Amino acid sequence: MSDCIFCHIVSGNIPSNKVYEDDDVLAFHDLHPAAPTHVLIIPKKHIASLSEFPVEEEALAGKLLLRIQQIAKELGLQEEGYRVVNNMGELGGQTVHHIHFHLLGGRSLMWPPG
Ligand code: AMP
Ligand code: ZN
Repeated sequence: MSDCIFCHIVSGNIPSNKVYEDDDVLAFHDLHPAAPTHVLIIPKKHIASLSEFPVEEEALAGKLLLRIQQIAKELGLQEEGYRVVNNMGELGGQTVHHIHFHLLGGRSLMWPPG
């Protein structure tokens, strides 16, 4: 989508600090990290939110989850642990309407979230 910041990152119009890329998935460091490691994992295809993830894209949903697993391992987070977050909609705190999974690690994370 032309007005979507993460689509612009996918196309390269907006720069990002990439950590992983394949045909379907892109991962890059969050501009405002909330933890020592804070990476966003997105599908290259524009999907606005988890609630709008097409049921026919089941394979992509599974791929995203397993890429998160792989990236967490590659970034050295596996041993100490990490958190994966998806904010959906207004009450969920979603500010960018291109689905993304936050991968947070490198410090002890509070629960419940604020
Ligand atoms: P959310 O609040 O779940 O929608 O998260 C959006 C995230 O995108 C925030 O953590 C922002 O810091 C991050 N963000 C926004 N613009 C950029 C950008 N150009 N590059 C990297 N991260 C970004
Ligand atoms: Zn988009």
